[in-house]
Amino acid sequence: MSAIPKPKPEELLRKTFARFTDEEIIPVAREMDEEEKFPRWMFEKIAKTGAYGIRYPRSVGGASGNTTQFCIMVEELARGSMSVAAFTAMQCLMGTNFLFQYGTAEQHERLLKPAIRGEKVASFALTEADAATDLGGIKTTAIQDGESWVINGSKTWITNAPVADFFTVLCQTDKAKKLRGMNFFLIERGTPGLYVSKKFQKLGTRATEISELAFSDVRVPLENRLGNEGQGLSNLLRILSVIRAMTAALSLGLARAAFDHSKRYTLERAQFGKKIASYQLIQQKIANMATEIWASHLMTYKTTEMIDSGERALKEASMAKYFASEVACRATDEATRIFGAYSYSMEYDVQRFYRDCRFLLFGGGTSEILQTIISRECGVF
Ligand SMILES: Cc1cc2nc3c(=O)[nH]c(=O)nc-3n(C[C@H](O)[C@H](O)[C@H](O)COP(=O)(O)OP(=O)(O)OC[C@H]3O[C@@H](n4cnc5c(N)ncnc54)[C@H](O)[C@@H]3O)c2cc1C
Repeated sequence: MSAIPKPKPEELLRKTFARFTDEEIIPVAREMDEEEKFPRWMFEKIAKTGAYGIRYPRSVGGASGNTTQFCIMVEELARGSMSVAAFTAMQCLMGTNFLFQYGTAEQHERLLKPAIRGEKVASFALTEADAATDLGGIKTTAIQDGESWVINGSKTWITNAPVADFFTVLCQTDKAKKLRGMNFFLIERGTPGLYVSKKFQKLGTRATEISELAFSDVRVPLENRLGNEGQGLSNLLRILSVIRAMTAALSLGLARAAFDHSKRYTLERAQFGKKIASYQLIQQKIANMATEIWASHLMTYKTTEMIDSGERALKEASMAKYFASEVACRATDEATRIFGAYSYSMEYDVQRFYRDCRFLLFGGGTSEILQTIISRECGVF
C-alpha cells in the first residue's frame, strides 16, 4: 500500500492563514478601514498566530520560516485587508530586520522579542520630503559625539509612526561618501528630540497610520547604529528582493480578493433577464483577471523559491513586484466595472480594493524605477 503523501508545510500554512483571514479579518475589514485607526486589537490577535516571527529563528521567538512561507502568509492576509497585511509585513520584515541582524543581545531582549510577541510596534523610516526614490538625497544626519550619535532631520510617509515603539531610521553619517556614508539607527519612542506629527489622511490602507518624524538633536548610544559603518544601503540591498517579493504577494492577495468578489457578483447579478456572467464581455474580464493572477502567482513564487535557494533574484523580484502590482490595479479596476454603480457604494468592499491597490505602485519601488532596474539587469541602460 502506498503511503499517503504528507501535505507540504507551505500548504498547511496557506490553509491556516486562509482560515484566519476568512474568519477573523474579512468580517471586520470594512469597519477597520472606516475607523481610520491602527487596530491594536487585530495587531495583537495576529501576534498570537506567530506571524511576526515567521522569518526569524526560534532563538528569538520566531518560527524559522522561509521567504516563500512569509509571502504566502501576507498574500492570504492581503486577501482580507491590505492594511492588516501591510502592518504585518512591516512588523515581520522592514521594521525588525536590521534590529535582528545587527542589534545587541540586550536590544533583542528589550525590543525584538516583544515585537515578535506583538507587544511592541516597529517602524521603518527611509523617505524624506525631497528624497524618496532617490535615497542618495536623504538629508537626515547622524554625527558621532563622544559616546552618542546625534541625529537631526526629518522623515515622511512613515507607516506605523503614530503608534510605533521603535524606529529603524536611515541617516547620513558621512556626506562626502554619499551612498557609502549611510547607516541605519535604532531610535525608541520617547527619546528626547523625537517628534511624531499628526497622522496623515489618506486614500487607502486606512487602518494603518502614517505620519512624519522630526529629529532635533536626538541622542542615541553608539550601539544603536545597526550595521557596520557606511553599510546601510548595501544592507538594505540585501533584503530588497525579499521586500519586492513580499509586495508582489500583497498585490496577489488583493487581486484575488477583487477576482473572488467579481466572480460571485457576475453569477448573482442579472440584467436583460440573464446573469451578467453569461455575457462574453464579462467573461473576458474574468478570464483576463484569472490569467494575470495566475501569472502573478507563478512569478511571485518562482522568485521566492530563488531567494530561498540563496539566489540574488533582483531582476526576478523587480519583475514580480512590477507585474503583480499592476495586475492588482487592473483587477481592482475591472472589479469596479463589473460591480457598476455598486462599486461606488461604501457598502461594498470593491471600493476599498480600488483605493488600497494604489499604494502597491509605490512601496518597494515605483513601477517606473522597477522598469529601469529590469532593463538595466537585461543589460540595456
Ligand atoms: C501608503 C504608503 C506607505 C509608505 N510607508 C513608508 C514607510 O513606512 N517608510 C518609508 O520610508 N516610506 C514609506 N512610503 C514612501 C514610499 O516609499 C515612497 O512613496 C516611494 O519611495 C516613492 O516616493 P514618491 O512617492 O515620493 O515618488 P518620487 O520618488 O517623488 O517619484 C515621483 C515620480 O517620478 C518617478 N521617478 C522618480 N525617479 C525616477 C527615475 N530615475 N526614472 C524614472 N522615473 C522616476 C517615480 O516613479 C514617480 O512616478 C510610503 C508610501 C505610501 C504611499
